Amino acid sequence: MPTDWQTRESLTLAPWAMHAAESGGRVHEESPHPFRSPYQRDRDRIIHSAAFRRLAHKTQVFTGYHGDYHRSRLTHTLEVTSIARTLARALLLNEDLVESLALAHDIGHPPLGHAGEDTLDLLLRGEGGFNHNAQAMRIMELLETRYPHFPGLNLSREVLEAQATRKRDNTAPAPLLETQVVDAADSIAYDTHDADDAIELGLLTLEELCELPLVADAAARSRDRYGPLAGVELRRAVLHELVEFQVAELVAQSRQKLADGSIDSVAKVRSAFDGTDGKGGVRIVAPTAALSSGKKQLEKFLFQRVYRSPQVMAVRTAAQENLTQLFQWYCSHADELPAGFRSRANQFGVPRSVADYIAGMTDRYLELDHKRRLGSR
Ligand code: MG
Repeated sequence: MPTDWQTRESLTLAPWAMHAAESGGRVHEESPHPFRSPYQRDRDRIIHSAAFRRLAHKTQVFTGYHGDYHRSRLTHTLEVTSIARTLARALLLNEDLVESLALAHDIGHPPLGHAGEDTLDLLLRGEGGFNHNAQAMRIMELLETRYPHFPGLNLSREVLEAQATRKRDNTAPAPLLETQVVDAADSIAYDTHDADDAIELGLLTLEELCELPLVADAAARSRDRYGPLAGVELRRAVLHELVEFQVAELVAQSRQKLADGSIDSVAKVRSAFDGTDGKGGVRIVAPTAALSSGKKQLEKFLFQRVYRSPQVMAVRTAAQENLTQLFQWYCSHADELPAGFRSRANQFGVPRSVADYIAGMTDRYLELDHKRRLGSR
């Protein structure tokens, strides 16, 4: 007798979707839940993890206090999840799996956004470096301790596999469509909201942004839809169009590629991606060449004007110094690490365990702990 969730999945998912009944299971075997599918359990485990909660107080781009308007890692994650679920439903994919992947996709980020990641990577140069995707894997498999019988969250293999793909692990299988959808949604979300946040912070103007063809087209569509707008109304409408357009393009493109490649199974999704079907390798959920080049122009512009702006860089440098000092302090005071990190230091070495501890901190806890350990500098 199939369970309710098996019946629902068999009625609603396409043959190219990852069906939970076909899951490779978990590393530590657990009995099935009476009414939640394996991927629903994964999603719930991620939402209830400490790493997920801390996303609320981690920054992405705008380290330090720049006001309350811009996105935190948590709100970015929720925007990605919302876009990814729209794509998943339109393509008849497994929404529970997509939701798990989207909610988990940034849990490995340390405090201070990319500034924090770069610093930890430098500090761990002799120890294999630091990367947020690899760190997410450590959180999932080791660092979260919520269950008595195993370390980590014991997530389904498909969730771990998606994470392995992201850290460019060459041994990882070709990504499922559920993974491809989350990657695409991540890119749509950050291009758009970083532009929005940057305008709000006065780092650039909508007029400047509208010089980019991708944004100019969105502005033209907004005019068609709403007539002439100005100020904040215009900005919101243009950014909304930018998301809407990319999502619609992706859905249309993906449907076309599924039809053209006669994709009717997960195995065919994988062989289309890695080219073992002899057709050269195709990512099914990917923007068109034109959209992709428009996005690259936008990203280049944001990089120069936002991520490398003097305003962002000044705060970034000071924050990186604090993180470095705190890292060095814990490396010479390893007995001050919380018990779990102290005991893992025996296995993984003090620098890695210190990095695990610091990477789990929120921006504000890092500042607080730096003050406590090293005094205010
Ligand atoms: Mg992200």
